[in-house]
Amino acid sequence: MERKLSEKEIISRLDDALKRKNIYVSYQPQVNYSTNRIVGAEALVRWKDPKFGIQYPADFIPVLEAQGLMQKTDLFVFEEVCSFQKHCMDEGVYVVPISVNISRTDLSEGLSFVDSLEKIRKAYDIPVYYLRIEITEKFAVGGKELVLSALDRLHELGYVVVMDDFGTGFSSLNILKDLKVDIMKFDMSFLSGNMDVRSGKIINSVIQMAKWLNTPVIAEGVETIEQADYMQSMGCYYIQGQLYKKPVSADEFFRLIGDVKSESLSFNYKSFGENKDNSFWNPNSVESLLFNRFIGPAAIFTYQKGEINVLRVNQKYLNELAMRMDEASILKINHWETIDSADRERYESVLKDIIKTYKEEECETWRNLNSDCCGQDRVCIRSSIQLISVMGDQYLFFSEIRNITAEKEALQQLRDNVKKFEMAGDQSNTFSWEYDISTKEMRPCSRCMRVLNLPPVIKDYPEPVIESGLFPAEIADLYRDWHKKLSEGADHLEAVLPLTPDRVPFHVRYTAEFDENGRPYKAYGSAVQVVD
Ligand code: C2E
Ligand code: MG
Ligand code: MG
Repeated sequence: MERKLSEKEIISRLDDALKRKNIYVSYQPQVNYSTNRIVGAEALVRWKDPKFGIQYPADFIPVLEAQGLMQKTDLFVFEEVCSFQKHCMDEGVYVVPISVNISRTDLSEGLSFVDSLEKIRKAYDIPVYYLRIEITEKFAVGGKELVLSALDRLHELGYVVVMDDFGTGFSSLNILKDLKVDIMKFDMSFLSGNMDVRSGKIINSVIQMAKWLNTPVIAEGVETIEQADYMQSMGCYYIQGQLYKKPVSADEFFRLIGDVKSESLSFNYKSFGENKDNSFWNPNSVESLLFNRFIGPAAIFTYQKGEINVLRVNQKYLNELAMRMDEASILKINHWETIDSADRERYESVLKDIIKTYKEEECETWRNLNSDCCGQDRVCIRSSIQLISVMGDQYLFFSEIRNITAEKEALQQLRDNVKKFEMAGDQSNTFSWEYDISTKEMRPCSRCMRVLNLPPVIKDYPEPVIESGLFPAEIADLYRDWHKKLSEGADHLEAVLPLTPDRVPFHVRYTAEFDENGRPYKAYGSAVQVVD
């Protein structure tokens, strides 16, 4: 049966739990949100009782503190961390500093606790910069002298000291001024619910205070991209929280930093446009205004483990699709399912290319969309895709789109026509061309180009074909005269003419086209072999 241990049980089972490692350490990574690099981790104590299941720190820590048993527990955690760091160093993986929490009651016997930490560290031979000590504001309440001397001692020894849960408790500026910590942690989860103006002001003032004290801030309890972006926009780049990773086992953390060395560390961060303060998710930000008003039809989507998830599209995107869909219904769609399977593969390989090169790329895909208003429709979308940011295995992309269905269809129709025309031409031995009366340029059909080896445009028509013998000398003047007549307004000309050096009889025709002023500007010529 899973249940909380009673106070008595906590006390009586502690030693056994430590010995059997039912008490153990979880590691929660801290990352630099701008570079996606793991910059550290926090060691968090865990207790899994074999009979009563998981026990929460919030339940057993106060009991252990009250009983003066937390020291023992914290030294155990510290030793586990040293042993982990030693393992990392021995294995040659990328070692990041790990912070260990200590309780105020750890100092109940004075500075001897710090000496105990040092003894363990030395026994494992861990450089001091691979370990950090986290204290809370509560630490300093009552008995400031002892805390200050502990802090001094830790600093003397070279430890980085972190102020946990900064801004939540009892800190008067006075205490903060004296407690010279090196890093501050700000816990987002203390601002419950949505971030609003009020929480924005709180965060801002805390961060301003940290800046004023010249101390970096780690945002803790970061659960959403909005929170991370917001903190980043305030100049706080270090985050710890579920958004990146929940606390993980030692083995998993070891794997994570191993992977990081080989992959994530090389990630470059690309912010949206040139804007480093990524306040894109705030509806009132300049970026949102740009997204909605000043850039073309665009979408923001994530790509993770082969899945695509569209997070935002702007109004122009919806207009461009021209299917009277709203943003909510676009966001609901499984995008892979709408894309033709061959196109989907191509699209995915373009995304993978971009991930490798960070270059913007284009891709055309046919999509089958369904809207309440227009029913099922097929649209061809040309997307210009850019990578905005990378977080773990999640990639955030920006895509500007154009609906090129009409162009594609027109092109297809043209291709079909040309094909039909060619087929008809092949069957009946027909050649055709367009003659521009004012410029004297002739554009042959593809069959002329293929069979007669003509270029796509012939200038000063008909002289080159006379010269080549396609129109032999005996009909050269007549043919020149036709072109003169066309320029004078003849609308139709035809005759059977012996063409090519072989003098093969062809029925040659011209039909002219006139502009709105009645002036001739184009003529369509054709030559059909006369078959007896
Ligand atoms: P803390 O040092 O502020 O640790 C952060 C707490 O936030 C952890 O809770 C962590 O699991 C939790 N957390 C992590 N990501 C998120 C998130 O995205 N959202 C939210 N809402 N919470 C998140 P946990 O492990 O339950 O620890 C609670 C507290 O117990 C710690 O707060 C710390 O004060 C204390 N503690 C934990 N381990 C030790 C230890 O070894 N020694 C001492 N003395 N205290 C410890
Ligand atoms: Mg902590
Ligand atoms: Mg905290």
